[in-house]
Order: sequence, then C-alpha cells, then structure tokens
Amino acid sequence: MSRLDSVIRRLEAQRACLDAAAGLLKDLPAEAPVFEVGLGNGRTYDHLRELLPGREIFVFEREVRAHPDCVPDEAHLFLGDFLDCLPRALERFSGRVALIHADIGSGDEAANARLARAIEGFLGALLMPGGILISDQQMSFQGAESLPPPDGVQADRYHLRRKSR
Ligand code: SAM
Repeated sequence: MSRLDSVIRRLEAQRACLDAAAGLLKDLPAEAPVFEVGLGNGRTYDHLRELLPGREIFVFEREVRAHPDCVPDEAHLFLGDFLDCLPRALERFSGRVALIHADIGSGDEAANARLARAIEGFLGALLMPGGILISDQQMSFQGAESLPPPDGVQADRYHLRRKSR
C-alpha cells in the first residue's frame, strides 16, 4: 500500500469511528462533555464540533498549530503536556466525560506506545459509565469493553472502547 493510500485509510477510519461514536452517545446526558486529546491541525476537532453541536468540547494539546478556525477558546483548552493536563482535568471531570478521542501518535511507535500506557488510566477515570474512548493507539483501562470497528475499518487501525456501566 502506498503512503498516500495509508493516509487516506487512516483518515477514513478516523471519520467512521467518530461518526459511530456520535451514535453511541445518544443515551448519555447531553451536558456530559467531549475531550479531544491531540488537536494537531484541528481536523477531527472540527468534525466533532459538526457531529455534536450541543456538546461542550475540551481540547488537550501542548502547542497549538491548528487551522485558525479550529482553535478552541481559552476556557476549553488544556494547554501543555498531557501528563500535566490530564491529572488536572481529572480533578474537575472524574467519571463525567461522555467521549474521548485520543489521536496522539507521531512517527515513533515505541514512544506512542509509552505515551498510550502513561495516559490510558487517566482517560478511563475521566469517562462516565457507558462513555466511549476512540484512539489511534491501542489503549485499555479498568472496566473497558472493546467494541467492533465500524464496517470497512480494519480492527488494528483505530480503536473503540466503552466503559462498563
Ligand atoms: N487529530 C488531529 C487532527 O485531526 O488534526 C491530529 C492530532 S496529531 C496526530 C497529535 C497531536 O498530539 C500533536 O498535535 C501533538 O502536538 C500532540 N501531542 C503529542 N504528545 C503530546 C503530549 N505528551 N502532550 C501534549 N500534546 C501532545
């Protein structure tokens, strides 16, 4: 597969998982927020805003380099390293988050896996019962249930978890 094909498949998988997760949130309280962990250039943040217009979205990123239309206001931005910001977010949102999308990867697979292990417990603790984690890296946490990927998405390309109720 060419690198172009690989990027296209990754983006299609991301979109399909975000779309599927939006459906899974329907029976969770409307006031429960969404977390975007890894803003990047803001593509998936923008898609989440479109999919979930009524939900508050908080963003985690160490350095904002997104498209100017895709930068959250200060009240919805945790600026800094995930390992500093997620513990702070936990003080405020423990067990209250409906959906977390964690897209944290770089080209370094070993570093990606280390970061995933370092943050997965925080993400699990932030989710409410029935809450959903979508991630580019394999992640798990206490009470995590694996959900099958949407049709057309390879199982190891993107990951869907639900926190048990
Ligand atoms: N989903 C985004 C999009 O659609 O544009 C792309 C996210 S990009 C793959 C990953 C982002 O995570 C990068 O912007 C990077 O700066 C951020 N990141 C990676 N490790 C981080 C860390 N330890 N703390 C804070 N941000 C981090």
